[in-house]
Amino acid sequence: MNCKILINGKWQQSSGGETFEVVNPANDTVIANVPSCNEQDVDLAAKAAYDAFPEWAQTEPKERASLMHAAAANIAAQLEPISILLTKEMGKPLGDARKEVKDAATTLDFFAQEALRIGGEIVPIGTSQATSLVVKEPVGVCGAIGPWNYPISLLAWKIGPALAAGCTVICKPPSDTPVAALEFLRCIEDAGFPPGVVNALTGSGARVGRAIVEHPLVRKVAFTGSGDAGKDIMARASKNLKRVSLELGGHSPLIVFADADFDRAVTDAVKRSFRNMGQICNAVNRIYVEKNIYEGFLERFVEITKTLTIGDGLENPDVDLGPMLNYQGIEKTIEHIEDAYSKGARILYGGHPPEGSQFKSKNYFTPTVLADTTSEMKVMTEETFGPVVGIAPFTDVEDAIRLANSTEFGLVSYAYTGSLSTSRALACGIKSGTVCINNVVGSTLEAPYSGWKSSGLGLELSRHAIDEYMQVKHIRIEV
Ligand code: NAD
Repeated sequence: MNCKILINGKWQQSSGGETFEVVNPANDTVIANVPSCNEQDVDLAAKAAYDAFPEWAQTEPKERASLMHAAAANIAAQLEPISILLTKEMGKPLGDARKEVKDAATTLDFFAQEALRIGGEIVPIGTSQATSLVVKEPVGVCGAIGPWNYPISLLAWKIGPALAAGCTVICKPPSDTPVAALEFLRCIEDAGFPPGVVNALTGSGARVGRAIVEHPLVRKVAFTGSGDAGKDIMARASKNLKRVSLELGGHSPLIVFADADFDRAVTDAVKRSFRNMGQICNAVNRIYVEKNIYEGFLERFVEITKTLTIGDGLENPDVDLGPMLNYQGIEKTIEHIEDAYSKGARILYGGHPPEGSQFKSKNYFTPTVLADTTSEMKVMTEETFGPVVGIAPFTDVEDAIRLANSTEFGLVSYAYTGSLSTSRALACGIKSGTVCINNVVGSTLEAPYSGWKSSGLGLELSRHAIDEYMQVKHIRIEV
């Protein structure tokens, strides 16, 4: 498959003609050649987006909404081929890929509705001689840069509010998994947006990503990815005071009290620890269990983990887990397991690749359960982004809150309890953008998703996300 980039309504090669290969992690075969863009491509895309902006910003909200609904319908119609590409390049089982593509279409539908509700206010200013209006206007050209673990849905989280607000966009899918995202963007373009409203460039973050961030015509950068890249983007964007929203790494705790629904807690804990091979920003990284149910929890957690099936998610769409994106992820997982073991953790399950001739690449790994982990171990403080979880006991609510807040991250936290007062204490005491009690639904389309502390800046999802793409203007009229 030979992919193309999108500039000013035309699918084309990069101006330098260079390409890079995308590999299927399940069997190490090359599935596509993708343009490796350069600064000239970024400049062309930025100019196209800049020229398209004034007219797009002036379109009636219902026209923007109707194009966005058409884009969502195109995506829904292409659900299967896009999902297959996503599984091929990223490794997630086909069922998970279908869910991601479907969610992306739903996200566009949601923000299409929100386009109709963007309003302002008339503020009382203490005089009848003047009227003060507060209106919102789109910020201009936006860069949308996404990570490889959810390459489609996390672009939709940015494109949706940007287009609804009246901004034009330059999208940069991740270089490890750009193929399905380009097909997703093709569905959007095919809905009939004016040329230049949606542009798509592929290539490395160091070259293409940075050039988007530094381009003077780009007024806002919406980014999801690693903390280091987020800080680099913020520093570069500050040179001409661009707006940034940053969704960065996490280190999610899950707390289980003795009064919780035990079966539900342990089943959800396994699911959220290992789904997508732990390659999720809000995967459960560490579990704290009330002391008196600790050993029983460990036993049941391991029993359920053993039932998870692993395999090529295209050959067998029903497997629970596919391969990791690449071997670097496995190396980091092994490093964290060895570090914990050397400091006294018990390895209750996993710690090695699965056995069998069906595993055609070295990117497979067995989900790994560590017990008696402490905050001196990397697995309890650094994002592994792999299939390993550390489990430790706690004594009371204060202890649980202290442990939950013991990392630099603050993205999503989970807890299971049957007590209303414990729920309230946790919800108020935990420092993260999302706190889920008795569930592991890390993000909800209608509610804001934001990282606290080192997990980010600004927010995505919900009606509030639109404000990230708008600037406020005060108009004082005296007659
Ligand atoms: P990454 O930071 O390496 O790359 C993310 C994207 O940014 C890619 O498209 C990359 O090409 C680009 N990029 C990299 N460096 C850049 C730079 N200096 N300037 C501009 N663009 C640059 O992250 P990744 O490895 O693709 O994704 C994994 C990370 O993303 C993890 O830390 C994970 O927690 C985080 N993540 C966060 C969320 C969230 O919502 N908070 C969701 C998913 C993933």
